[in-house]
Amino acid sequence: MDSGWPESLIRDVPDFPAEGIMFKDITPLLDDGEALRWAADTLADRLSATPADRVVGIEARGFILGAAVAYRMGLGFVPFRKPGKLPRQTRSVTYQLEYATASLEAHTDALVPGQRVLIVDDVLATGGTAAGAVELARSSGAAVAGAGFLVELGFLGGRARLDNGCPVISLFSYGGSDDPN
Ligand code: AMP
Repeated sequence: MDSGWPESLIRDVPDFPAEGIMFKDITPLLDDGEALRWAADTLADRLSATPADRVVGIEARGFILGAAVAYRMGLGFVPFRKPGKLPRQTRSVTYQLEYATASLEAHTDALVPGQRVLIVDDVLATGGTAAGAVELARSSGAAVAGAGFLVELGFLGGRARLDNGCPVISLFSYGGSDDPN
């Protein structure tokens, strides 16, 4: 095991998917059984300080970690999906990304008023996606109890966009984060 483990399993890929973007590729970490277990266990342990009823995973890489976290915590998992994927009636939210808009959908009965949810995704960048997920959860009457990410690009200020006072956990933070961990 190298000294930078498991962070060394997150690879920087320059100019993907567009010029100027440094893509954080988590597939080497997913490929390593011990690292995957460590990531899921650590996210779950740190999120478990906050009582919750469901884990929400954001399509697509948020499904991988979110489902593992939900399993570890013994909670149900709710997928927030890209448009047109869910078979029954949905509610949706459209949110702003850096240069575009995007949408997420959830089944209308996936969350009910009073439930407390934890939102999980692989990367917190500008926070637009996570803020959209918060809005979608709230539109069902659920409360967001916390959010967990493998990677936080702190210099993009995403944490501030979540802006709901809930704990925001990231396992690896790059630049400018106010994450106390
Ligand atoms: P944002 O809405 O800007 O916070 O972007 C977060 C979403 O986009 C997450 O679902 C990530 O999977 C993806 N993402 C954004 N920036 C990166 C990056 N540099 N490397 C990998 N994934 C990213």
